[in-house]
Amino acid sequence: MTFNSLALKIASRCNLNCSYCFMYNLGDTTYKKQPKFMSAEIVNHVIEKTKNYIKKYNKKEFSFIFHGGEPLLASKQFYIDFVTKVNELKKELPNVSFFFDVQTNGVLLDKKWIALFKSLEIAPSISVDGTKKAHDMFRVDHKGNGSYDKVFKSAQLLKEEMDYADIACVINTNESPEEIYTSFKKMNASYVNFLIPDYTHDNFPFDKNKTTMADWLIALFDIWIRDANRFKIPLFLGLLNSLMRITEDAKNESTVLVIETNGEIEAIDSLKACGHGFTKTGLNITSNNLEDIQNTSLGNLYFNDLNSKLCNQCLQCPLNEICKGGRLVHRHRKSNGFNNPSVYCNDLIKLIAHIQNFFISCYPELHEKENIEAINPKEIMEYLSNISKEIESPFKKELESFLQEETVLV
Ligand code: SF4
Ligand code: SF4
Repeated sequence: MTFNSLALKIASRCNLNCSYCFMYNLGDTTYKKQPKFMSAEIVNHVIEKTKNYIKKYNKKEFSFIFHGGEPLLASKQFYIDFVTKVNELKKELPNVSFFFDVQTNGVLLDKKWIALFKSLEIAPSISVDGTKKAHDMFRVDHKGNGSYDKVFKSAQLLKEEMDYADIACVINTNESPEEIYTSFKKMNASYVNFLIPDYTHDNFPFDKNKTTMADWLIALFDIWIRDANRFKIPLFLGLLNSLMRITEDAKNESTVLVIETNGEIEAIDSLKACGHGFTKTGLNITSNNLEDIQNTSLGNLYFNDLNSKLCNQCLQCPLNEICKGGRLVHRHRKSNGFNNPSVYCNDLIKLIAHIQNFFISCYPELHEKENIEAINPKEIMEYLSNISKEIESPFKKELESFLQEETVLV
């Protein structure tokens, strides 16, 4: 099994109401049936099942990511109890390293929370969408008020108290990459995880004949790579690593399994964007083991075959070793499931080409020595558009079994 982390939905409600939120605002309404907080009973099952999983698969590292909703709506005692239980587990598993992260919207983060996280060795990451204007456009509270000012203070506090500000940022292509980059520099960010929005083929808002996302990311890359004091951007580092064949993408998405507030086991959160109930597996931590996820069709595809069971276009794509078909949510279409290339396909081609060609320009000797060639994105797009539609992926039947008849919108 590929996962080494659990994303724990310890609170199923949120003090914000972001318009792009896949939990609440992109088609899945199952959160309404969730308890507001994860109970001690569910936590006990999580710890027990994690122990069994680690032993069975001989894992040396394991992470718990506290998630929501907004995880800071849970009590401080919840975190103390959880970490205490994991510390007990360490006695039985002395050779396993455990890590804790919390992904918060930052609104409630203050010195007391940070002191607690420091004492429990929990690493916080805050969601910020760049500039105040970009952030307040989407990340609003339930009265529609922007949350940037509070979140900016939280990021500053994190830097002061922990000397590390880890940020997650959903990309908004209406904002200039220069302004977004500058605002994170002002925030003293150490690490910014830029996230490509979770659109599917059914709700993609961009013109597919243009490469809006790639153009935005390329502009950001050019600013970032020339900044000697750059913060870390895992999207670019992952692509550079893959292109240089140093490691696999460091942020391979299929390393995290999700546990809902009521103990339900789910393969991946972002697929909630595919429709109401899409991520439901029927599994629950109270009666199933973590690895049972591979017995569900979605879990099997996601954890075992994410990068190999692709549509015909991706299978024939010269960039598939790097792109791997893009993220799963971006491949979905209600009428034919995952039998599609990423909705960002042309963007991915252009971005990968830009980074590879930049790399070659820095190390021209590699061009000859390692036989690394410059990529012409137009040629690849043309090649892909000429692939015969008659040829079908050998995985067509399985990929199309994930079609979704109807999406219930909030
Ligand atoms: S803070 Fe996160 S969970 Fe809350 S509404 Fe925004 S995106 Fe959703
Ligand atoms: S670039 Fe497009 S066709 Fe190639 S693997 Fe990625 S999504 Fe598939």
